[in-house]
Amino acid sequence: MSKILRVNMTDRTVRYEDVPEKYRFLGGRGLTSSILYDEVDPTCHPLGPNNKLVFAPGILAGTNAPTSGRISAGAKSPLTGGIKESNAGTPWPQSVNKLGIKAIIVEGYPKDGGWWGLHITKDGATFFPADEYAGRGLYEVFPLLFERFGKKADICAIGVAGEMKMSMAGVCYNDAQGRPSRYSGRGGLGAVMGSKGLKFIVVDATGGPGVEIANPALYEQGRKKVLEALRQHDITKPKGGLHTYGTAVLVNILNEAGGYPTRNFREGRFEGAAATSGEAVFETNKRRLGKELYNHACHPGCVIQCSNTYYDEQGNEIVSVVEYESTWALGANCGIDNLDAIARLIWLCNDIGLDTIETGGTLAVAMDAGLLSFGDWQGAIRLVDEEIRKGTPLGRILGNGAAFTGKAFGWIRVPACKGQTMPAYEPRAVTGIGVTYATSPMGADHTAGYTIAPEILSVGGKADPFDVKKADLSRNFQITTAFLDSSGHCLFVAFAILDNPSGYEGLVEECAGVLGADWTTDDVMRIGKEIMDKELAFNRAAGFTKAHDRVPEFMKYEPLPPHNVVWTVPDEEMDAVWW
Ligand code: SF4
Repeated sequence: MSKILRVNMTDRTVRYEDVPEKYRFLGGRGLTSSILYDEVDPTCHPLGPNNKLVFAPGILAGTNAPTSGRISAGAKSPLTGGIKESNAGTPWPQSVNKLGIKAIIVEGYPKDGGWWGLHITKDGATFFPADEYAGRGLYEVFPLLFERFGKKADICAIGVAGEMKMSMAGVCYNDAQGRPSRYSGRGGLGAVMGSKGLKFIVVDATGGPGVEIANPALYEQGRKKVLEALRQHDITKPKGGLHTYGTAVLVNILNEAGGYPTRNFREGRFEGAAATSGEAVFETNKRRLGKELYNHACHPGCVIQCSNTYYDEQGNEIVSVVEYESTWALGANCGIDNLDAIARLIWLCNDIGLDTIETGGTLAVAMDAGLLSFGDWQGAIRLVDEEIRKGTPLGRILGNGAAFTGKAFGWIRVPACKGQTMPAYEPRAVTGIGVTYATSPMGADHTAGYTIAPEILSVGGKADPFDVKKADLSRNFQITTAFLDSSGHCLFVAFAILDNPSGYEGLVEECAGVLGADWTTDDVMRIGKEIMDKELAFNRAAGFTKAHDRVPEFMKYEPLPPHNVVWTVPDEEMDAVWW
């Protein structure tokens, strides 16, 4: 039987608890948000003793369901002040689930200083002192942990940004090759982990019971349907768009649509887009390595395999992964068109423990406010490596994100919702994603309701990107995404199953098969809505109102080239999403 592992950082004790009946059919985001809703005071200080950090592997993590190694990390966010679920693909949740652990709840508050790690095996969970690893880069620390705990271990960690409780600190996990490159990046959950004095959770599933599957026949039936859908779709199939060019395949597409935010959302098209795209990563690698290099899986069992690796002129790895969001945030949004510099900035974020999106958004606001010129990649590297990493007074301002930096510099052009900087889609040119940014309980988050699929990619139907009637579209995407984020599947399976009813059915059958639930596709909206309702109730109790479900004011009066459009979605349309 699965257990919940409760970790108390006040007295450094651990307890394995039976899973309450009400959590039996939950996993991933459904479980993190339910535990936060049940156990955390929405008015608590995010970095104080009453916040909790919850990790829940998706329902399918650790099974052989394709592309299903996802972890949900949740807490009250120090960046937004609301509930947060931050999702990552990594082997770590597969190991957690294989040990029969349905969720890890980190609570309490350290009475004394010092850093601690938690080592979890089939024999239980024990603390180890981690002071010797503090203040060091994660690329140096991860190999030391593998040496100490063995190659079969999987690591969850914070970097120095989390130690300093910066609001743009992420929680880092190893990828399938052991790099510190997979992130629950958004919302500052690394700072919450830092506030608990917890530096690592190292997990080794060797000898564990494995994942229980209540109805193997139903699970297998669903698994085959999902696998088939993934193999057929142009975006997700082997040597398809994601496998060849990675998520940065979107750069040229969004740029062409005029929805690729450039120089702190001043323009919707970037002259350096082609040079910083997924195609450029592929072609540069080909030239530098003398061969075509297709992408790899971030965890065992991913059949899409969208994670790239980027190499320098000498054929040495600079970084993995140059994601769409990262190449945009640290590239176009900062006016930087030098791919090697962008890759170096991504490496620094991974090493320090930073969310690449919030870091790029923050640098862009600082550039716009006059701290650096747009395009000054040497200056950007210096700010991240010398100021943020070292926690100088300027570094502490930047390390708390774009909205905080905007305030510090008296700058009104801050493209953020609920305190979280917007990702790589411009709301004025693609209105549905703007509605999602503004109304999601997570703050500006493209993954919360990816309306880009029908608005730009013609996946899951077609929607006019400029149409202002987007409440229904955004709400439906947000609700189904809440279910998907609970399943353990990567969001990218949505490309395949949105266009394939059998794949959609398979997703539900896989989850129902693992849990022994009596679900059909009709249950997806109900389950997703129940999750959303808890998250929305948490935020309302934390003080959020309709007025927080808005895009920044400057987007209403500042026309965005090349379409020269302003934000005109009426407030009533925004309120129609949840109010
Ligand atoms: S599609 Fe990409 S991000 Fe998603 S699980 Fe696979 S490798 Fe990871």
